[in-house]
Amino acid sequence: MKLSIKSLVGPNIRSLRAYSAKEIPCSVKLDANESPYGFEIADKILKSIKTNRYPDPEAKTLKKIIAKNLRLNPENIVFGNGSDELIYYLITVFGGPVLYPVPTFSMYGIISQALGEKRIEVPLDDEFDLDTDRILSLIKKEKPGIIFLSSPNNPTGNCFSSERILKIVEFASSLVTRHSSLVVVDEAYQPFSSEKGFLPMLNDYKNLVSLRTLSKIGFAGLRVGFMIADKEIINEVNKVRLPFNLNSISQAVAAELIKNLKTIKLHIGLITSERERLLNELWKIRGIKPYPSEANFILFKVKNSDKIYYRLLKKGVLVRNMKDVVNGCLRVTVGTKQENSIFIKTLKEVMK
Ligand code: PMP
Repeated sequence: MKLSIKSLVGPNIRSLRAYSAKEIPCSVKLDANESPYGFEIADKILKSIKTNRYPDPEAKTLKKIIAKNLRLNPENIVFGNGSDELIYYLITVFGGPVLYPVPTFSMYGIISQALGEKRIEVPLDDEFDLDTDRILSLIKKEKPGIIFLSSPNNPTGNCFSSERILKIVEFASSLVTRHSSLVVVDEAYQPFSSEKGFLPMLNDYKNLVSLRTLSKIGFAGLRVGFMIADKEIINEVNKVRLPFNLNSISQAVAAELIKNLKTIKLHIGLITSERERLLNELWKIRGIKPYPSEANFILFKVKNSDKIYYRLLKKGVLVRNMKDVVNGCLRVTVGTKQENSIFIKTLKEVMK
């Protein structure tokens, strides 16, 4: 008898669709919300790495630097191999149901399904903001273990209203529900936002977690994500965290390069001003409806989005086709001034 591997895996994995992370050849890469500005790694840093020894399981040096930069206590930080890994750990520890608005970052759903947890998807309102009434009633009814709110939200680009987020955090920790849910505000794109984010609120709400990453500010290749939370939450996550999840090279390189705060801020400034230029240019193109953004990407609606996506790609410009998530929309990452100009010029050509 022929062995069917599919029959060996659970139904949750059988029906799971893997995250689409293909390498697509192109000349202008604006699909993955990376920074267009990288950093050179000095030989001195690489020479300091001991390949025969395990990495520091706590990543203490890097933790100290990040804690100092963000004025946090190192005890409130834990690292992941990208923030993706921390999403995995959080769902493993706190369990489901897992509630999140849609459209949003697909990994909340993928990881929930992989771990066999129930998913509760709540559509955003017409302004891409949180439907608080619906979320509160679902918290009461379904008692989720964890709630993910990406703000700024990927792929819509906007921040959710802070009052709505706090209302959810408060309700999820109140006795009204006779149950508390952890609320994770995923702040992957916070550095590009005009809003101050949720770090200052962490002391006020024990069930609030901020998820951060270095991926969007120039270090996507290092895979360094971190979360900031109450020490008790950190302790629980540490129980499931793989012992050496952040490798020596990433730790050493990130610790050294993160010291270039001035340059990182300069890059963020360039990206946010280019974002506004790009938004203005997109508005001028007939048939395109861009959405305002507080992140390093812009979502835009366009007729025949599939066709436009492939026409752009044919000319070497890679954006993200969001057809499975937001009908008729494409998402473009803000690149360098030159890359953005090529994108706009090519988009005008393919729209003709
Ligand atoms: N959260 C959001 C909202 C994202 O868009 C991404 C990356 N696309 C991540 C988390 C994961 O980032 P990383 O694993 O690179 O830290």
